[in-house]
Amino acid sequence: MVLKFLLATVIAQVLMFASNVTAAPHIVDKPVLWNDYREQLTLEYAETHYGKSITTIEPRAVVVHWTAGPTWESAYYTFYDETRADGSGTVNVSSQFIVDRDGTIYRTMPENKLARHVIGYNWCAIGIENVGGEGNVKDLTDEQLQANIELIRYLHEKYPTIEYVFGHYQQVAARESGLYIEHVDGYYSIKADPGEIFMRGLREALEGEGLKFF
Ligand SMILES: [Zn+2]
Repeated sequence: MVLKFLLATVIAQVLMFASNVTAAPHIVDKPVLWNDYREQLTLEYAETHYGKSITTIEPRAVVVHWTAGPTWESAYYTFYDETRADGSGTVNVSSQFIVDRDGTIYRTMPENKLARHVIGYNWCAIGIENVGGEGNVKDLTDEQLQANIELIRYLHEKYPTIEYVFGHYQQVAARESGLYIEHVDGYYSIKADPGEIFMRGLREALEGEGLKFF
């Protein structure tokens, strides 16, 4: 009888605990090429642009993008090689996640590796690329919105140092966070991704969870 009571108490506590923990989203690992050369180029980028000798980050922000391309593979192969296709010999662009139009989440690098996806913030920002936005058309899907909500919740729970979520187009407004660092004069590009509608959807879903939006 006592044993039965104890068992019931334990089950009740497990259920209570489970209801407080966010279910981790399904993530498909599909790593880009990461070798000693990419590590070295990443270090050089961090030293040049941030004055920091790092290749891993303590995440403080999540930055949301669109790929401006048609498929997840086109983004993946753009990010795959170590160096940029422009012949500059610098580390290639990348982001830790790509979310396909059906909401499938691909993790293309370790979450805390420095990725080159947003000028001024790569030293502390995890990037999520969403497939879509070709020609700046705001066409991201509901499945992508849902996947981004779950992914950001998962990241915030795993890295409590994350305080901010912003879209790439909000890069100037986000300087209010104090996180912006750029040591190279005039290094800047104007962005529209991932659009206001998508960011409003994220803000409405996540704002009450201790994250700051712009
Ligand atoms: Zn972007």
